[in-house]
Amino acid sequence: MSDSTDIEIVTLEAKCGSCGEIFDYPTLSDFAYGEFIFCSENGRVHAYCEASNPAAKLIQVLLPEDCGAELYQSALAELADPILGQNLRTEMRCPKCTSPKLEYWGGKKTGSMWVKPTTYKSLLSLPRNELVQKVSNFASGFRFAVVSDSDEVV
Ligand SMILES: [Zn+2]
Repeated sequence: MSDSTDIEIVTLEAKCGSCGEIFDYPTLSDFAYGEFIFCSENGRVHAYCEASNPAAKLIQVLLPEDCGAELYQSALAELADPILGQNLRTEMRCPKCTSPKLEYWGGKKTGSMWVKPTTYKSLLSLPRNELVQKVSNFASGFRFAVVSDSDEVV
């Protein structure tokens, strides 16, 4: 499991606000512009994504021009290939109970962990039209969830 693309990332302490579990999570320095860390739905797997990744760039180009950072990062997480069967999300989750509610995070430095890069094989294997549609659908679904006035997508 030590692919050369895995990178070692510093971990900090966080505490779950639901079950009280104290756990380590990987975090990038404030200076890591254009790099993101995502977390699996069960809180046990993490992945990093660089905005310079060609697939990430493609997603950015296909999203609406005025889309905010939140939509952009969510698209990068949720359109990525699952890791160990787990879909990725932008928020950190408790590895014990999977709650995204944390009592605190950014606690003391606890060490480091090896983190895999996001891949986009399933997205990139789509025919052009379906790929464009998938990103477009994601953007309208996201907008709908946030402001509840979406454009109809045919
Ligand atoms: Zn928990």
